[in-house]
Amino acid sequence: MNILPKAVIHLIESFERLPGIGPKTAQRLAFYLLHVPQEELDRFANNIKGIKTGTVLCNICKNVSERDPCAICQGEDRDKNTICVVEQPTDVLSIEKTGKYKGVYHVLHGAIDPLNNIGPDELYISDLLKRLSHARYRESSDQTASTIEIILATNTNMEGEATAMYLTKQLRGQSTMNNQQLTISRLAHGLPVGADIEYADEITLSRALEGRTVLLTT
Ligand SMILES: [Zn+2]
Repeated sequence: MNILPKAVIHLIESFERLPGIGPKTAQRLAFYLLHVPQEELDRFANNIKGIKTGTVLCNICKNVSERDPCAICQGEDRDKNTICVVEQPTDVLSIEKTGKYKGVYHVLHGAIDPLNNIGPDELYISDLLKRLSHARYRESSDQTASTIEIILATNTNMEGEATAMYLTKQLRGQSTMNNQQLTISRLAHGLPVGADIEYADEITLSRALEGRTVLLTT
């Protein structure tokens, strides 16, 4: 017999559905909230409610935004011919924080992960291909040929690598079909500073090798 009040059980169950939260943490959070003033709980509940009603997906880049198109897609200073493909909206935040990137984005909302039944159709991949074919028509109407660069900035784990590989294949196919000039690049992931090469995992090391920069030529 469960001695917990139903309200507490339901809240624990809700917390358990969140990523990275196990049963123990869910229980701790639920009991913690019992000590929080009611008005703060109401604010918290309202914030949760508003996360979807107060946001939209940008029609162009699929990033989460307050308006459609989003501020980045509408930005006058943004290079629309450079598209950085990322897995999550939080990746956009990280890249924006560097202040070094002036192109636009495309958010996939995940990565190809066959073990969890996530295939290309579950991601915004076809939208990226459609977006590129539109870009081509826009360019060809004013007769100015321009190269589009796609930067694949998916994660360096198995799923991210599989997604990058799949995208490269699809993009190559489409660019041949549309006679489109396309440059595809992948972020160069270096070794962390102070890392022993001996202990670096295969993916990091091979990426570091691929992304090596020329120091001197004689
Ligand atoms: Zn956008």
